[in-house]
Amino acid sequence: MFEDAELINRWKNVVQEVGEACVKSGRGPEEVTLIAVSKKHAARAISTLAREGQMDFGENYVQEALAKLEELSALRLNWHFIGHLQTNKVKHVPGRFVLIHTLDSEKLAQALHKKSQSQGMTQPVLIQVNVGREAQKYGVGEDNLSSLVERVLTLDNLKLEGLMTLPPFFEDAEKVRPYFARLRELKEELEQRFGIALPHLSMGMTGDFAQAIAEGATLVRIGTKIFGPRM
Ligand SMILES: *Cc1c(COP(=O)(O)O)cnc(C)c1O
Repeated sequence: MFEDAELINRWKNVVQEVGEACVKSGRGPEEVTLIAVSKKHAARAISTLAREGQMDFGENYVQEALAKLEELSALRLNWHFIGHLQTNKVKHVPGRFVLIHTLDSEKLAQALHKKSQSQGMTQPVLIQVNVGREAQKYGVGEDNLSSLVERVLTLDNLKLEGLMTLPPFFEDAEKVRPYFARLRELKEELEQRFGIALPHLSMGMTGDFAQAIAEGATLVRIGTKIFGPRM
């Protein structure tokens, strides 16, 4: 169908641009995973891209995500949870997402750990950091990051794999770059302090993924540029 062809074209362009941003930053394309952010888009669009080879998808809302996971379970996709996670929704989450990007409190960590433990599994997580110190955004502040990491490292059924951020918005993407650089610094400081490896930095969206890749992103979360505007 015509719409499918347009979607596939947009996706191919994004794949190419992500690859070009890697080359420009002296990084291998295999170092960066493209997560197609499919929130508010139909399962059909997801299966179209899955047929082309896109395996990683990001969702923000638990109910919407679970419906799509079920509908598309035969495709064996890698689902990422990238939205704000409420403690009362935690019971639905462990085991269903390859990575939860938005851990931002001890309370949530404890709840996720408990649920994962009861399912006999270990849930990979990223800690979301509010690097822009914006009141309206979720994420742990820099001042509380270290103590949250310390806590998460004591929870056997969580596996801390890195940091995620949703930086302030600027028309000029170059202005976002210092926030990406800061997240990388924080990751490096934590690795030093705790003697751990944190392989992932989840940062960069439609408007600023090239800058994020230049600053070390390993996971970019791109929605609009692939799927078009959300309803
Ligand atoms: C919606 C969303 C994205 C995708 O944003 P686009 O600008 O559409 O690429 C990425 N990350 C998070 C956390 C989101 O909520």
